[in-house]
Amino acid sequence: MEGRLHLLPVVVNGVGMVFLVLLPLTHLVPAMTPSGGATPRIHTGFGDWLGSEGYPLLSRHRGVDIASRMGADVLAAADGRVTVARDNRDLCGLIVVIDHDPGNPHSYRTVYCHFSEIAVRVGDSVKRGQRIGAVGTSGQRAFPGFEHVHLELQKGRDINAIEDNLAQIAGCFDAATVYPADRLMLTYPVKC
Ligand SMILES: [Zn+2]
Repeated sequence: MEGRLHLLPVVVNGVGMVFLVLLPLTHLVPAMTPSGGATPRIHTGFGDWLGSEGYPLLSRHRGVDIASRMGADVLAAADGRVTVARDNRDLCGLIVVIDHDPGNPHSYRTVYCHFSEIAVRVGDSVKRGQRIGAVGTSGQRAFPGFEHVHLELQKGRDINAIEDNLAQIAGCFDAATVYPADRLMLTYPVKC
């Protein structure tokens, strides 16, 4: 019994070590190496339990954290109309929401978080690839090197009807490409 009690702090420290040191290290190494590819690095995927820096989240990740740098342009992921542009005063921080089929109760909306500056207003029509603001660390503060756009995809009026937007991302925005108009196709919300 005595021996077991003495083991407990060792186990707690071991588990803490994994979650607070080793997992963050596994996120730090890729964050510091150049992505090498044409597409931006994804710090945290949809449904993940670890945040961009590798620390545990209190709930599953609602979107995708797309790596960028402070002050870089945030781009609309598809055509639509701005329905939210404000400081949310929560973990999202400065937020923009774009409705991709305004008026349709089942339409898709993209949600962008952590801006340092918002460049659109509610009611604005935006085109895919248009600058809607600048990357920042408002809300959930990112460590240096982990600055990102949190992109979320919601369907219909329910803010909890979230989907994995990475599955809908066709690639980087290219002004010369003709994108389909009959279904939602997203492009990365940062320049590649
Ligand atoms: Zn996020």
